[in-house]
Order: sequence, then C-alpha cells, then structure tokens
Amino acid sequence: MRVIILGSGPTGLFLAHALAKLDYPALEITILEQRADPVDPTGAGLGLWPHSVRILDQLGLLPEARKLVPEMKTSIHLDPRGRLLSESTLFDRIVQNHGHPFMFFERAKLIELLYEQLENRAEIVFAGKKVVGIHEKHDVVEVACEDGSVLVADILVGCDGSHSIARRFLPSHSPSKAAFRCLFGVSQLPAGLDHCAMIETHDQGAMIQLLTSEDRTFFLLYEANTQNDSQATRYSDADAEAVAQRFEHHSVGKEGKVTFGDLWEKRTRAGLFGLEEGVQSKWFSGRVVLAGDSVHKMTSNLAFGLNVSLEDVAALTNRLHALLVIQHVTHPTTSQLQVLFADYQAERYSRAKLCVRMTGLYTRFATWNNVLFKWMSLYVAPKVGDMFVADWVFSWIPRGGLVLTFLRESDPKRGEVKYLHEVQ
Ligand SMILES: Cc1cc2nc3c(=O)[nH]c(=O)nc-3n(C[C@H](O)[C@H](O)[C@H](O)COP(=O)(O)OP(=O)(O)OC[C@H]3O[C@@H](n4cnc5c(N)ncnc54)[C@H](O)[C@@H]3O)c2cc1C
Repeated sequence: MRVIILGSGPTGLFLAHALAKLDYPALEITILEQRADPVDPTGAGLGLWPHSVRILDQLGLLPEARKLVPEMKTSIHLDPRGRLLSESTLFDRIVQNHGHPFMFFERAKLIELLYEQLENRAEIVFAGKKVVGIHEKHDVVEVACEDGSVLVADILVGCDGSHSIARRFLPSHSPSKAAFRCLFGVSQLPAGLDHCAMIETHDQGAMIQLLTSEDRTFFLLYEANTQNDSQATRYSDADAEAVAQRFEHHSVGKEGKVTFGDLWEKRTRAGLFGLEEGVQSKWFSGRVVLAGDSVHKMTSNLAFGLNVSLEDVAALTNRLHALLVIQHVTHPTTSQLQVLFADYQAERYSRAKLCVRMTGLYTRFATWNNVLFKWMSLYVAPKVGDMFVADWVFSWIPRGGLVLTFLRESDPKRGEVKYLHEVQ
C-alpha cells in the first residue's frame, strides 16, 4: 500500500509523521517536492494554537518544538501614529483557557524540525521532483514528474499549496480571490520594540502585525488589493520593494519610535504574497485527495492556516487508521476510498470555512475596511479588550480542534475551556 504525498511543506511533512505512527508496516510513504531542498528556507512565521500543540505532542515533536519558540507575553494594539489603543496579557489567557500556549515558529525552523525528525527521511522524501501530471488508472494513480520519472500509488495526497497541481486534477476546482496581499519577512529586533510581543498597528486599508522574540521581528504588512483580482497572487521582489517604500515612514511601535523602514533595513528575508481566501467545494476525486493550502486558503492575521491543515492531517489519518489497521484492508478499492474521502471532507468542510470567515473578518476589521470597523477598532475594542475576544471568540477554534484518535499525549495540558475531541 503506497501513499504519495505531494509537497514537503508543513502539511505534507506533518502527514508523513502521522502516517508513520499508524503501526502499519505495509504502508510505503513517499513525499515528492519540487524544490531542490526539501527544507524550504523561505517565509516568515507560522503559529500553532493550543489544540494543534496537542497533535505536536502526540507525534513526539513537542519537546524539540518548545526549544524553537519564544514565550509570548503581551498583545499591543496601536493607531497609525503609534498611540496605544490597548495592551494585554492575551497569551497568558490562552494558556489559562486551553492548557498549552500559542506557539509561534519561524516557518523554516518548523519545516526543518519536521524533516529532521522524520525517520528514514532519505528513503521517504525526494526533492527536485516537480509533479507535472496525474493520471487515474484502473486501481492506482500514476504520478509523472518533470524529470521523466513516473510513480504509482494507491493514494495521492495533494499537500502542494495554493497553486496546487493536484487541485487542477479535480473536476470542479475554483480559483480563490485575493482581496489582500501581505508583505512578510524576518528582521533583527530594532531598539524600541517590546520583546516577545504581538504588536498590531491599524490603519485605513492596511495593518502591520509584528511578532517579536528576544532578538528578531517577524513582520506581516497587510494591504487591501486595489483590484480584487485572483491573478494577482504572485509578486516579484520589485513589487515587494515598492510596498516597503510606500510604508517606509509608517509607525510600527509605540509612540512612532520605530518605523517599517527600520524593519525593512534590518530584514534577513521578505516576500510579497497574495492572500487568497476560499475553500474548494470538492476535496477529492478517485484516488486523489487534498489537504492544507491546496484546498483552503485564508488570510493569516489569526494564524489559523497551519492549524486547519493539521486538522486535515488528523481527520485523514484517523480514517486511514480505521480502514487499514482496524478493518485490516490491505489494498483499498477506489469506491472504499471515495467513501473515506467523502467522510473526511464532510468532517472538515464547515470548520475550514468557519476559519476562513473568522480570519477574513478580522483582516477587514483590523484594516478598517469600513467606518464601523474603524470606529470599533478605535473606541470599542480597547474597552472590550483582548480577554473578551480570547474567551468568547478565539476559544471556539481550539475547543473544537481534532486530535489523532489512535495516539496518546505525553504531556497533556488542559485549561478552563473543555476540548470537544479528546484522545480516548
Ligand atoms: C514560500 C512560502 C512561504 C510562506 N510563508 C508563510 C509565512 O511566513 N506565514 C504564514 O502564515 N504562511 C506562510 N506560507 C503559507 C503556509 O506555509 C501555509 O499556509 C500552511 O503552512 C500550510 O502549508 P502547506 O504545506 O499546505 O502548503 P505550502 O506551505 O505552500 O507547501 C506546499 C509545498 O508543495 C510544494 N509543491 C507545490 N507544487 C508542487 C509540485 N507540482 N510538485 C512537487 N511539489 C510541489 C511546494 O514547493 C511546497 O514545498 C508560506 C507558503 C510558502 C509556499
């Protein structure tokens, strides 16, 4: 029984870890990655909410993962001139509510951890393998790579991101729109910014979100796209530079002491991306199924993207566990897989949609998309406070988070909000 995973991004690598824990020796896992290096060094940061930290723990990755993240302390909201709107210990409240913390990783470091911790990685992960064709045969799926090689599998999981080739294979795929774009990157921490904090500077049509550690700043500059154009999702370095120049003098710290230009000058890397939003209506066809950004894309303000992907991994792996390990099916038929995939999509679809909507709404609120949002951001949110949001808005997502049903946690932590899904 062979599963080919398309893409060694976070979703693909997490899926390989979960499948490797199935205790099913006949399972052969192969990851095909188009990049020359399976550990992608690009991108800025990725956040895991407490419910996802439970899965990190189940996969045995938590002790090493803890070494990679700062202990987040404060959440700060500022107006365009750097005047304080509110400051809170939001991150402590998240721990109080859900047991585990919100963990914020450098994307490259998380991918490196996932890759390095994968047993037999040299036999599993094949870099420089760009997939260019997918063909459904009688009871297998055939995958063609750009280098002329052809591989055969029982199942193909498309974890190949927002420009997925696996998605194009599905009969009714629809392109997502990007109403926002995001300039994100990493820079050294300039003097004048709080350590281990999330600092959000709100403005008309834009918002600058910083996550700081002891020595670095991860910056995400969100800007509303002028043309709501699904094509404008890939940008050049010159496009990134142009956005940075426009925001050069924009305040990003308290009292306007630090500007976006200060961060840009000290950047170690950066990139401009379109933030597509949407969930595909069909997640599978034949022996091909999608997970992660290939099937749902969302704005990144609330750091839900990877968490939603990790739940895909849990939902899919739990079902494969039931079929392969509990029911002892050695070579599932296409119709058995259709049932399994339909069940997987049914479990995931509305929750993925909820996450897309929640973070999309927050992006519009935080960028003062209309006068009501601007007024609420300036006068209502500071009074209501982050704690209300942590208790009554954000907690809906962690409480419903999925876990792997067949693995125990080594370091279970629980808070005041009960999880709906517990390991049995
Ligand atoms: C370069 C990059 C930087 C990012 N930076 C950030 C960030 O700073 N903050 C943030 O919140 N999110 C970022 N994201 C998005 C984030 O990684 C995802 O939202 C989330 O982690 C889910 O990841 P994924 O594995 O589903 O998709 P992705 O992270 O997009 O990974 C998909 C993988 O599939 C590979 N692939 C694609 N097509 C093929 C093909 N035809 N053949 C073989 N391999 C293929 C890609 O090379 C990539 O390694 C970034 C994505 C990318 C691609």
